[in-house]
Amino acid sequence: MARHYDFLVLGGGSGGLAAAKRAAGHGARTALVEPHPLGGTCVNVGCVPKKVMWNAAGIAEALEDAPGYGFEVEGARFHWDRLRAARAAYVERLNGIHRRNLEVAEVEHLAGYGRFVDAGTVEVDGTTYTADRILIATGGRPRVPNLPGAEHGLTSDGFFELAEQPRRVAIVGAGYIAVELAGVLNALGSEVTMLLRREHLLGGFDALMRETLMDAMSTAGVNFLTCIHMDRVERGDDGYVLVSADGDRTGDFDQVVWAVGRDASTEGLGLEAAGVETGPEGIVPVDEWQDTNIPGVHAVGDVTGRAPLTPVAIAAGRRLADRLFGGQADARLDYADIPSVVFSHPPIGTVGLTEEEAEERYGQGGFACHTTTFKDMYYAPLDRKEPTAMKVITVGPHEKLAGIHVIGRGADEMIQGFAATLKAGGTLQTLRDTVAIHPTAAEELVLIG
Ligand code: FAD
Ligand code: NDP
Repeated sequence: MARHYDFLVLGGGSGGLAAAKRAAGHGARTALVEPHPLGGTCVNVGCVPKKVMWNAAGIAEALEDAPGYGFEVEGARFHWDRLRAARAAYVERLNGIHRRNLEVAEVEHLAGYGRFVDAGTVEVDGTTYTADRILIATGGRPRVPNLPGAEHGLTSDGFFELAEQPRRVAIVGAGYIAVELAGVLNALGSEVTMLLRREHLLGGFDALMRETLMDAMSTAGVNFLTCIHMDRVERGDDGYVLVSADGDRTGDFDQVVWAVGRDASTEGLGLEAAGVETGPEGIVPVDEWQDTNIPGVHAVGDVTGRAPLTPVAIAAGRRLADRLFGGQADARLDYADIPSVVFSHPPIGTVGLTEEEAEERYGQGGFACHTTTFKDMYYAPLDRKEPTAMKVITVGPHEKLAGIHVIGRGADEMIQGFAATLKAGGTLQTLRDTVAIHPTAAEELVLIG
């Protein structure tokens, strides 16, 4: 007879691990199915190794800036292979921590791919298991465009496998991953060309952030080719050549990186056997309770196509487990005003409405915009300068905070606290009533307006 669980989780990434541990903590008999080292995209090929690379890029910049602060740093050399080994060791440590945490939480780990047999039954490597509740938390995977020669390119997964630093790199795409990888490679000394299909980076971000970032990246040496529609990739004598639909040829590159979005990992999951509906790019649509169209089958994280960020997957997973097994009937994630950071150079921190969204929602005159731009004091003794730009959007007669956007040094660590203020219903006056901390860049946000 098939082994039976209260809760069976498919996927040991951010959302699945969080939900499984929380459910087990509430006393649910729980198993988690995962074929790869635990931690999912974030730990293995996402946030964690990316942040290590971003930190390394920051050190490269600090070395460049050091003479301006009186240091002699001749002889500093960067070894890609040493960083790669240190990064891999850290990721492996995290895989082990997740393994032990599951044991401590008494969640059974079933190593393998899960596949639905029916809405209450899953098969893993030929063994079937049944459960009262099944959670789909299988995340996503990088998309590769359907073009001749696309196989010559890497995705972000392949980027983390590179044994050597590529000298000349083309990055196709304009989203989070494209700008983050471009910034890292450029700071570490590669020659980077970004190919965008529109005129700007980071569609969906506030225009002030987009434009400031593109200017800063250009100044830092990244080449941009805009409004390019790719036709194919060719292997030339001295590297890869990208050919556009207009016949323009760009090359030569040692590596081409596809950063054109991600698809949900639902192929081979047997969703049709369970009757679970899918949407565009294979996503599993869910309602506000993370419920799919089939009772007892739930989904969280990237596979749902909603706000694909690690803390979102974790928060949604925990609240679902609280609701199903913790007696918290109203527990669910509020998806409004989710803050996020782009680890670009310089970084962007953002929460709430962009100016474009505010105008669409409230009309011109229905909202106010307060902006400031300056150079962070860090750059005072340096030739290298990066801009800082801030925008605060408020609505209504009490100037309720509706959007906060920051690009510049420290934005990554700055936005979390301001997001809490916005989420708590703060107003421009709340910022003004807060005494500034000097000398910081963040103080400009409480002095704005
Ligand atoms: P995942 O973490 O993808 O986990 C899904 C798991 O399911 C995987 O381990 C997979 O092996 C497993 N699986 C798939 N199919 C099956 C199956 N049939 N049976 C069993 N298991 C299966 N987010 C941030 O918040 N901050 C960042 O800085 C950030 N940086 C990123 C950088 C990169 C390069 C990338 C690619 C992503 C980044 N993200 C970042 C996004 C973040 O990684 C994801 O939002 C997050 O990992 C989603 O968690 P998840 O649990 O939904 O899925
Ligand atoms: P994004 O959705 O951010 O960006 C996808 C990009 O691909 C867009 O710029 C889009 O261009 C471009 N694109 C799509 N199709 C094509 C094409 N055929 N040719 C050229 N360009 C194309 O996806 P990412 O893969 O960068 O990241 C996935 C998600 O992972 C993010 O949305 C984010 O939620 C998460 N993430 C979070 C990070 C963080 O928190 N710091 C870091 C990395 C990822 P266009 O704008 O023109 O539509």
